[in-house]
Amino acid sequence: MKLQKIVRNSAAGVVLAGLTVSGTMAHADSTGMMTAESDLLNATLWMQTSVEFKANSMAAYKLAEVMLDRALADKSWTAALEQDGDYQGKPPAVILDVDETVLDNSVYEAWLIKARTNYSSKTWMPFVDDAVSTPIAGSKEFIDYARSKGVEIFYVSNRKAPGEEGTRKNLKDYGYYVNDKVDTVLLRGEKEDWGSEKSTRRAHVAKDYRVLLLLGDNLGDFVDIKNADLAERNAILARYQENWSSKWITIANPMYGSWEGAAFGFQWKASDEQKRQLKMNAMKYWAPAE
Ligand SMILES: [Mg+2]
Repeated sequence: MKLQKIVRNSAAGVVLAGLTVSGTMAHADSTGMMTAESDLLNATLWMQTSVEFKANSMAAYKLAEVMLDRALADKSWTAALEQDGDYQGKPPAVILDVDETVLDNSVYEAWLIKARTNYSSKTWMPFVDDAVSTPIAGSKEFIDYARSKGVEIFYVSNRKAPGEEGTRKNLKDYGYYVNDKVDTVLLRGEKEDWGSEKSTRRAHVAKDYRVLLLLGDNLGDFVDIKNADLAERNAILARYQENWSSKWITIANPMYGSWEGAAFGFQWKASDEQKRQLKMNAMKYWAPAE
């Protein structure tokens, strides 16, 4: 979309190449780059271009280094709710999510905007196989630090099992430590009970290791949430307040996540317009004096 094609129309918003954009919904034009309808634009732009995002991620990972040292010094420390029994003497490990925690997939999200389409496993799987995701700032430095302290690194991701080769390649291409002797890349569906909820995989790690930290961008990276609504999510936040920024380290992800599903009642099959309306309904609004 060329700028000269945009003309102001005070009654109806903005007219783009002859298409009227009223309110917040816009329609595809034939030239390619008109994106007013995409809820992904600002979030993706922020994650891909802003130094603020990089600085935020680096802060989270530097905090993780501090907490790692505390965790190593305190044998009773565990970050996994699934950890039980006599774990004090087990070797230490950390569990990291992959997408938007270690690897940045904003080029896929940007492609969704440009192609005017939504996430689909039909396009996501080839993207994973392409192994072109980039590092989240600070993540490799943290992993190297943890390795220098003898800590095992587990990647627990909801990428599906067939994506393991691409995921391993992508991680190794950027120099991330991946254990070649023990399977430490634990993907969804690799075992029968490894569903999208991650507790069975955390339990699998906790069986043989003391879990020092969990790192992720999604509430489900820390605790099973199923389809927790907005109120339940806030209750979970409060219930585990001692863990946040201590045993549980979060990376910001405004592009997607269970937070968005919760905002539209997990009605994934609803139309984009219906989801957008539900998201509008989920917000509180200022009511200026008349
Ligand atoms: Mg993630």
